[in-house]
Amino acid sequence: MMLNKSSLISKTFSYMNSLKNLFQRKAFTYSQFEGEISKISGLIDRNRLKKLQQEEDLLFINLHPKSKEHAILAENNLLGGVPMPWMNRLPGSFPIFFKEAKGSKIKDIDSIEYVDFCLGDTGAMTGHSAPFVTEALQHAASRGITTMMPSEDASWVANELSKRFKLKYWQLAMTATDANRFSLRYSRYITGKPKICVMDWCYHGTVDETLAVLDKNGNVIPRPGAVGPQVHPSVTTRIAVYNDLESLENVLKHGDVACVLMEPALTNIGIVLPEKGYLEGVRELTKKYDALLIMDETHTISVGPGGATKAWNLDPDMFVIGKPIGGGMPVAAYGLSEEVADKLKHHLSSDNIDVSGVGGTLTGNAMALAAIKATLSNTLSEKDFNFMIPLATKWTDGVQSVISEFKLPWTVQQLGCRSEYWFCPRPKNGAEAANANFHDIEKYFHLYCLNRGVLITPFHNMALLSPYHTINDVDKHTSIFRDVVRSMIC
Ligand code: PMP
Repeated sequence: MMLNKSSLISKTFSYMNSLKNLFQRKAFTYSQFEGEISKISGLIDRNRLKKLQQEEDLLFINLHPKSKEHAILAENNLLGGVPMPWMNRLPGSFPIFFKEAKGSKIKDIDSIEYVDFCLGDTGAMTGHSAPFVTEALQHAASRGITTMMPSEDASWVANELSKRFKLKYWQLAMTATDANRFSLRYSRYITGKPKICVMDWCYHGTVDETLAVLDKNGNVIPRPGAVGPQVHPSVTTRIAVYNDLESLENVLKHGDVACVLMEPALTNIGIVLPEKGYLEGVRELTKKYDALLIMDETHTISVGPGGATKAWNLDPDMFVIGKPIGGGMPVAAYGLSEEVADKLKHHLSSDNIDVSGVGGTLTGNAMALAAIKATLSNTLSEKDFNFMIPLATKWTDGVQSVISEFKLPWTVQQLGCRSEYWFCPRPKNGAEAANANFHDIEKYFHLYCLNRGVLITPFHNMALLSPYHTINDVDKHTSIFRDVVRSMIC
């Protein structure tokens, strides 16, 4: 399976020596950061990278004859050959089809096994097909999948969510996207204000109002790649720059913002951590300007069993959690403070509650509730995090050791059991992160890893550690990471 690299290793690439000189730099202004990025970018030998990419593409094709055959078949009737367009973001010139996913491993239809650090982009953060989830699902399925009544698991689930994430009242959704949509809708209803605020370069699912960014002049524009917004997002959305309280205050001063929807740390443009005092400042400003604060912890649950809200003692009005709480099943939930819930009393007794815009016939079904109960009663526990976080630290240290060994101006950033590396110095906000655009290096790294049995999340360079990963899995990644770096620079 290994690519023969002997010819590559003998060659020397002087551009990487120049990169070594950049390694020590730390604090940047925005324009300095942009300058560093273009400098690093200019130093990359694109021709060499292209040649290496071609070799990996060829290896990929040779390794996956059955997936190739199946990909051709799938193109007959599946738009783009996959059930979801983003599935084509995985590395390789065609999708690989999986046969089995268990714990931290995936096996494809060509019988190649991978250590999976994507874990369904947190949907399978608790490990693939954990036995306690599959058993609970089998049991629930045999007793009735969807009715118009709640199952008994509902109150257990809400009580557990309340204990973990501090908010008193809970509602279910099928996806974090829906949980966010419903939270935005309730925020507007409660405050009577028309707009919402999100962070520049955030991601909160396919919620129309959130697919927006700031352009260079500070105007709200559709996020690059977003298709067919209902209305221009500047009609619905104001945008603040993460880690910049002045920018948030300028947004809130307009007086028309119902809520600020944010992640405590940005995770979807790589990991950007809050600076000291930032989240406290956000809370103060949202109170001052009478806007609700919604924390979307779909990813930042990586910090611990109660997410960043518990670990960092945050105090949101509403709270969203998606994928990981269902052990792989499509589920989500959102929490509301007592004060927020109180303001919904009148609405909840309405005869038109079924057509309020907060809904979903299958939402809160018995299977979903059984999956959450099984997941939260067996995993995502203190004990699990005490295992996963040190393992993520080992993964991070492994990457850092390679960065240091080759004296690269790169960064690795850990957030609980999640870790992520950058081909640049550490960005401080979403726009800096988005501008650190090294898609070609990223593409090569991901395919190189995949061709050697390791999967990294395809959208950036993220790894998640589950209770099923082992030290060997982590060492395997470190060793491959060293090889891929060496292949580029030796
Ligand atoms: N919130 C955050 C923070 C996310 O990262 C995502 C998706 N990755 C979502 C919401 C949306 O989740 P889903 O696609 O399951 O609706």
